[in-house]
Amino acid sequence: MAVLIDHPCVQHKLAIIRDVETGHKRFRELAKEITKFICYEALKTIKVKEVTVQTPVAEAACRKIDTDIVVIPILRAGIGMLEGILELVPTARVGFVGLYRDEETKLPVTYYERFPPQIKGGTCIVIDPMLATGGSTVAAIETLKDNGADKIVVVCIVTCPEGIELVEKAHPDVLIYAAAIDDRLNEKKYIVPGLGDAGDRLFGTSH
Ligand code: URA
Repeated sequence: MAVLIDHPCVQHKLAIIRDVETGHKRFRELAKEITKFICYEALKTIKVKEVTVQTPVAEAACRKIDTDIVVIPILRAGIGMLEGILELVPTARVGFVGLYRDEETKLPVTYYERFPPQIKGGTCIVIDPMLATGGSTVAAIETLKDNGADKIVVVCIVTCPEGIELVEKAHPDVLIYAAAIDDRLNEKKYIVPGLGDAGDRLFGTSH
């Protein structure tokens, strides 16, 4: 299932990040800001514990987060979302997964993975700005599950029906959070209208 973060503050930033005239510096800032808002919503239901805190005046009944949070950027574009979530949860741990598409089989192949042990029992947040075909997201989730993870959510900036469907079919237990669910994929597997190649726009590598 996909959850759309339809808040005007997010949608305003989305309008700017989509704009072809937005340069890589501003694009990076916006990716960070949008990610922070989406993750704020995505973490609404995480496990908390009741604690008592002594204020200067009296005891206060409070709640604190009671789960390890592990963020997993999919290389390379996922890196552009990392700072946003680390500002929200500075104690989060970070794992990485790198995938490439095999030209013959057209299937994603994992070339790099490094996860903290807390993926077992903790809450894993897979980040990738564009959930397009869904192939790499599904592969990343499989790699995480193979390593013992069982609580996984996906946070992206833009997705589309094709990507949501693939993730839903393969991993119905995984929720997707996005700022936009766009129309479709084009023949080059870019999201339409989307925002172009997120990695290139983040890192200034477009021509
Ligand atoms: N990856 C991107 O960066 N953009 C798309 O539109 C699809 C996949």
